[in-house]
Amino acid sequence: MSAAPAPSHSPSPQPRRLTVMAGPTAVGKGTVSADIRSRYPEVWLSVSATTRDPRPGEVDGVNYFFVGSEKFSEMASNGELLEWAVVHGHNSYGTPRQAVQDQLDAGIPALLEIDLQGARQVRETMPDAQFIFLAPPSWEELVRRLIGRGTESEQEQQRRLETARIELAAQSEFDHIVINDDVHRATDEIIALMGLEQRP
Ligand code: 5GP
Repeated sequence: MSAAPAPSHSPSPQPRRLTVMAGPTAVGKGTVSADIRSRYPEVWLSVSATTRDPRPGEVDGVNYFFVGSEKFSEMASNGELLEWAVVHGHNSYGTPRQAVQDQLDAGIPALLEIDLQGARQVRETMPDAQFIFLAPPSWEELVRRLIGRGTESEQEQQRRLETARIELAAQSEFDHIVINDDVHRATDEIIALMGLEQRP
């Protein structure tokens, strides 16, 4: 009896584990995400929906899906969002569910950059995901970065620092803590945690 012929098609991709990155205001989540996007284009970064207005240079569908609050509520109540939260007491942000599922099903490594409230929701619904907390080298450095970027009023800075204290206290809920002392180094550590090959 001859052996069965090897299947001619390649095996279907293994579903990937979702990676969730959270961390306090001004820690550099946006900078690290941008570094991942440019150096590791094989990683799919989720594009969130938000009710906040675009900042100069931000592009709808690239940085965020900018939607009105009515549309956002509709997406939330239709179950279209994997998680969502009101962040810094102002605007709503949420992760479109289907896009994430499509990437994972196709075996594409997917990364969410969301806040602590959102990370906790994903922990409930997708316990197999891995959770990374991006931390500042020190509290003083976080304050320096927030004030240094100068994009918020003094009142808003105080509000964000209060939230940051709460977020930093939740670090132990995460599977890994990555210190953002250097953007390239932090990116490489995240890439390694995602099981991907690092590049020089
Ligand atoms: P920004 O307005 O500066 O772009 O983002 C403000 C905060 O919203 C950041 O802490 C960011 O991580 C968070 N954020 C962005 N997208 C989402 C999302 O889809 N869900 C949640 N829960 N937070 C998000």
